[in-house]
Amino acid sequence: MYNFNAGPSILPRTVFEQAAQAILNFNNTGLSILELGHRTDTFQAVMNEAIALVKELMHLDADHEVLFLHGGASTQFFQVPMNLLNENEIAAYTDTDIWGAKAIKEARLFGHVEVVGSSKEANYSYLPKQLVVPKTAKYLHITSNNTIYGTQWQDMNPFYETGVPIVADMSSDILSRTLDFNKFDLIYAGAQKNVGAAGVNLVVVNKNILGKVDRKLPVMMDYRNHIENGSMLNTPPVFAVYVCMLTLRWLKEQGGVPAIEKINDQKAALLYSTIDKLPIFKGTAAVEDRSKMNVTFVMDDAALEKEFLALCKENGMVGVKGYRTIGGFRASLYNAMPLEGVQALTALMNDFAQRKG
Ligand code: PMP
Repeated sequence: MYNFNAGPSILPRTVFEQAAQAILNFNNTGLSILELGHRTDTFQAVMNEAIALVKELMHLDADHEVLFLHGGASTQFFQVPMNLLNENEIAAYTDTDIWGAKAIKEARLFGHVEVVGSSKEANYSYLPKQLVVPKTAKYLHITSNNTIYGTQWQDMNPFYETGVPIVADMSSDILSRTLDFNKFDLIYAGAQKNVGAAGVNLVVVNKNILGKVDRKLPVMMDYRNHIENGSMLNTPPVFAVYVCMLTLRWLKEQGGVPAIEKINDQKAALLYSTIDKLPIFKGTAAVEDRSKMNVTFVMDDAALEKEFLALCKENGMVGVKGYRTIGGFRASLYNAMPLEGVQALTALMNDFAQRKG
């Protein structure tokens, strides 16, 4: 089976095998990872390794702290402004997908939001450029990859040049391409795409931006408490963190981010060139903004779309259907998707187009 789902999504086969073994007998302890106390040395070693791997793979400097937190990326939509934005202050936001729009809605509960770019009117099919970000903004929030509409910021330089701290929702492309992660003051990602299992968030935060808001924060919402306690403020999602650690280890074994980026580039190039070559398929995102993680495309004929989806399923390819409110197709090409999966999908597309054309 090739799994093209957008998340939870494909993970490396070896991760599934090791995680399955750890449920039965973790590291020959005679205990399951599911019954292991989180304060044991055995689990502490898992957490330490997961954090160290993130630091290593992202080349983080000493100011950037790595946290594994509960609540999914949606919790970060409000935890970010709660920690960074006073009621009388401005935060700049880009509105480039349903997820970015949700982040904006939550931030408005805490301070002033200035939307500095939106492609909502064009059905989020492109990314707004030449953003004017107020110098007084406490931070600029972007969604690095737009999971639903299949767009991805390719050039981060304009953001760096604003001089405003950058906060990025990298849920659907974290660790898929080389970026200077130290240029971001806060990065968050639900783990269930490139990092590991659902149930945990990866948060990377520059500790220097914290502690500047006036409001009182609930203990669990204050990033500083999680930093002080090494992501063990309360019971962490032990199994989800373990699966992240295994996935990060796998990524390191592959050669890290630069090596996986090369394969990701090949996968995306193959799929987009197939879409562009075959008139029956149409890409939906502006060419220069195309995502290498979530490839969105349609056909003119809804009956044919249904037929193609059924064919995918018959041939062991699942998750090619577009987002539930959008339709069409979306093939997610996360790190764990091998090139062979995309070769199988494009072979099917070629064959289908030939028969229908
Ligand atoms: N941001 C982005 C870019 C996403 O793709 C998603 C979910 N797919 C979310 C936020 C929400 O994540 P969660 O379900 O973990 O809250």
